[in-house]
Amino acid sequence: MMGAVLELSDIGYRWPGRAAFSLTVPDLTVQRGESVLLLGESGSGKSTLLSLICGTILPDRGTVRIAGTEVSKLSARARDRFRAEQIGVIFQQFNLLPFGSVTDNILLPLRFAPQRRKRAGDGAAEAVKLCTALGLPKDIIQAKATTLSVGQQQRVAVARALIGQPPLIIADEPTSALDADSQTAFLDLLFAQTAKHQTALLMVSHDPRLGDRFDRVIRMEDIAVIERAAA
Ligand code: ADP
Ligand code: MG
Repeated sequence: MMGAVLELSDIGYRWPGRAAFSLTVPDLTVQRGESVLLLGESGSGKSTLLSLICGTILPDRGTVRIAGTEVSKLSARARDRFRAEQIGVIFQQFNLLPFGSVTDNILLPLRFAPQRRKRAGDGAAEAVKLCTALGLPKDIIQAKATTLSVGQQQRVAVARALIGQPPLIIADEPTSALDADSQTAFLDLLFAQTAKHQTALLMVSHDPRLGDRFDRVIRMEDIAVIERAAA
């Protein structure tokens, strides 16, 4: 499959009530199956940009297209559903439901995404398959997320992002809390799984050493104009 999975054009955004920070992104495209590392200092607007891509916030101007659909044209409800269908998200703190089991957590995005649920087939069986592929012991699947080690939690977060093969994975500094060995293991499993399904990956980091593993490395200062007015 060829073509762009993500296209941003002429984006402008200012957090409401915060005149001091504005973000402009003239053009950013990610192709199907492409892995892109986005580097930038803390406070440079990386997470804001990811929220714009995910449609959790809407740009003041410009367009975000995911798999050909202009996200800002959708109603809030349609946008939530569209996000669940198209994007697997991995947050810095993994954001697992603490009282949910591993299965509950992995199946969560399918609840709001009928097409993705269809692609996943038997969701529970797929969750087990993903856990196995990610090196999680089988008997962990009914355990509560709170009882897991950090390394196990990150694997669950990856499984939750990958289930039902969304065309785009967005990861916001998922390795920042990990030591070098766990970082490598985390990226190994993320890349193995995204390569298998031609999934595009956009990962944010402030660590340039991760760059070698990606198809492309971009820097916030090269794709965005940030204005920080004096308070
Ligand atoms: P990064 O992820 O690169 O560290 P952020 O996108 O988190 O950068 O932050 C960029 C700017 O946007 C900062 O000035 C921050 O204070 C502001 N900002 C981030 N999130 C919010 C929010 N939810 N509400 C208001 N301002 C925010
Ligand atoms: Mg951030």
